[in-house]
Amino acid sequence: MKGLSRDLGQILDRNRVLTDPEDLLAYTNDATHYFKRSMPDAVVLPNTTEEVSRVMEYASKHRIPVTPRGAGSGLSGACTPVHGGIVMDMKRMNRILEIDERNMTAAVEAGVVLSRFHRTVEKMGLFYPPDPQSMSVCTLGGNVATRAGGPRGVKYGTTGNYVLGLEIVLPDGTVINSGGKFVKQTVGYDITRLMTGSEGTLGVITRINLRLIALPPEQKTIVVSCESPEQAAEIVSEIIARGTVPSMLEYLGQAAVGLMNSIISPPLTVDAGAYLLIEVDGTRTQVDYDTEVITNLCREMQPRAVRVIEDEKEAASYWKARSNLYPLLMTLMERVITEDLTVPRNMLPQMVRMVQEVSAATGVGIGMGGHAGDGNIHPTILQFQTSPELDEKSQIAIAELLKKGLELGGTISGEHGIGIHKSEYVAWELGEAQIELMKRIKKAFDPLNIMNPGKIWPEGGE
Ligand SMILES: Cc1cc2nc3c(=O)[nH]c(=O)nc-3n(C[C@H](O)[C@H](O)[C@H](O)COP(=O)(O)OP(=O)(O)OC[C@H]3O[C@@H](n4cnc5c(N)ncnc54)[C@H](O)[C@@H]3O)c2cc1C
Repeated sequence: MKGLSRDLGQILDRNRVLTDPEDLLAYTNDATHYFKRSMPDAVVLPNTTEEVSRVMEYASKHRIPVTPRGAGSGLSGACTPVHGGIVMDMKRMNRILEIDERNMTAAVEAGVVLSRFHRTVEKMGLFYPPDPQSMSVCTLGGNVATRAGGPRGVKYGTTGNYVLGLEIVLPDGTVINSGGKFVKQTVGYDITRLMTGSEGTLGVITRINLRLIALPPEQKTIVVSCESPEQAAEIVSEIIARGTVPSMLEYLGQAAVGLMNSIISPPLTVDAGAYLLIEVDGTRTQVDYDTEVITNLCREMQPRAVRVIEDEKEAASYWKARSNLYPLLMTLMERVITEDLTVPRNMLPQMVRMVQEVSAATGVGIGMGGHAGDGNIHPTILQFQTSPELDEKSQIAIAELLKKGLELGGTISGEHGIGIHKSEYVAWELGEAQIELMKRIKKAFDPLNIMNPGKIWPEGGE
């Protein structure tokens, strides 16, 4: 590997090529921590599109696998190499290039951290809604590559709804631009959408044009304590069916609220069967109207309590706790496996029942918490202590959850993507004909199969 490090050192500065084992080790993981992966042979930290292009050209010539990486906050193992090679760490390409207030668009490099982008546009009265709860670390490039969602998906949609154009470095080093700053286009195939959610398997995203909207001036938070998980799910279905659209509508199990109470001030009582954390936003009139409609509807369904949070600090503490739910879980558990099942929203009561049944049948603890408003209540396998026996039972539970979720008309991943975590189940959802079509698309972009091989399909999409 001496030759590799020497060659890469001629493309980038030597200090932006990492080859020491203790540096490489950090790149064998994402936020999942539990897969066996291979070490990369080298990590590069490019500053420019030209450097990305030259690394890709070199990798293509020598048929070396390249795995793009943002912050490594993914929950499917997608940014971790499975066949060694080069990891392309995009965090240094972190410039916000343009915020065009008249066009309501922005242009950024792929390594910009989402929360920094939020703060920057919000200071200007603009709004970029997608809000994966890893926003303090995750990058916009990673968000595009996973088509990331978040609580605001229920009203504002997910990352895919805001990507207008991309600069992409293809596996052979060619740089292309798809889409642009304009809000619509009908010229040939939609490469922008194809790249969005492609998990680094088709090319490296270096720049992104994003759509912005006006920042809603007011928000209000409502907390509903429900008798049971089923009742919480029924209330969500009813809110959606009646056409009121909250800006966030999160489901939280009792255990989740127990943990979140270390941040919520004052803490919630933990005697309810499940909770809903709701935000409405817009103008004052709209917020007042939506708050009244939603609280009346909830009360009709007779939960334990419906509370409108008037104090802004208290409301902020709920949402901060919600963002920190996964890290809080990780402080208690040796392993947490977050599933990403998403069902049509009228099926949420059935889904919640199904998850409890799978937990009881397999003896595996499964918590629930997530973006119920868009049908995405992450069933989460909780392992206080790992063991081979629990691992085996967990695999059975995961397969059951996914199979039954599909029977409810759902999808095995609403926002985290497939990576290596769910590759063995992709055929359950897509079927062979669609997978073959996708493999042909992969081959058209990446005939040598060097772009993040070993992801999405068990054999790596060759
Ligand atoms: C606490 C916590 C909360 C989370 N909450 C949410 C949530 O609410 N919603 C949600 O959708 N996800 C959530 N996630 C998952 C994760 O944060 C998202 O998937 C995020 O989009 C990953 O961004 P990243 O920069 O960390 O990408 P990485 O994890 O580094 O990479 C993810 C994928 O994108 C590819 N990639 C990264 N950058 C590029 C690039 N420039 N060009 C091409 N491919 C690239 C990688 O190869 C990989 O396939 C959460 C994770 C954590 C740890």
